[in-house]
Amino acid sequence: MRIFRTLAFAVAVALLVTIPSGTSARQAAAAELFTCSMHPHVVDAKPGTCSVCAMALKARAMTPAEKEIVDFFTAYDAAFVAKDLGKLATMYAPETIVYEGSGINRGWKDYSETHLGPELKVFENLEFAHTNVVPHMLGTDAAYVTADYSIKAKTGERLVDSGGLATFVLSKNAGGWKIRHTATAARRRPAGGVSH
Ligand SMILES: [Zn+2]
Repeated sequence: MRIFRTLAFAVAVALLVTIPSGTSARQAAAAELFTCSMHPHVVDAKPGTCSVCAMALKARAMTPAEKEIVDFFTAYDAAFVAKDLGKLATMYAPETIVYEGSGINRGWKDYSETHLGPELKVFENLEFAHTNVVPHMLGTDAAYVTADYSIKAKTGERLVDSGGLATFVLSKNAGGWKIRHTATAARRRPAGGVSH
């Protein structure tokens, strides 16, 4: 009986110690993905219904690797808005291939020097974010990621107000997750810039 009470006390202490409080508890609660119990390949970053069977998606906790990747994109967006090419350089593999619409850049050097660098330089009032980031793990050190993106900026007299779909292929090495390939497709804009 005494052993039982000692054990019960130890369990209670362990529970108290491991229950996170305040901000970290809320962050932990937000680290969820939503999936269909019948169709595990249907995964979304927000609640909704399954696109195959229309059942309500069920929340599940992200795995540590999935959380790392979601955090990677939070850091990516912050570096992009800060126009921090040095930080962005650490997030791409040198041999990365970037598709943007029908344009291609081969390698970080090409992408950063002829495309991303000059573009970031002329953007003013830059707003940029990935949302609905869903990691799809391909083993422990590779994943593809689907996401939405939005970008708003002023470049001289022109206003950029765009967004669309993005896919990333990531692999992990000793330096962390790296973008090996990305492809973005901007959503179609009606002629004259009138949105519906
Ligand atoms: Zn389903």
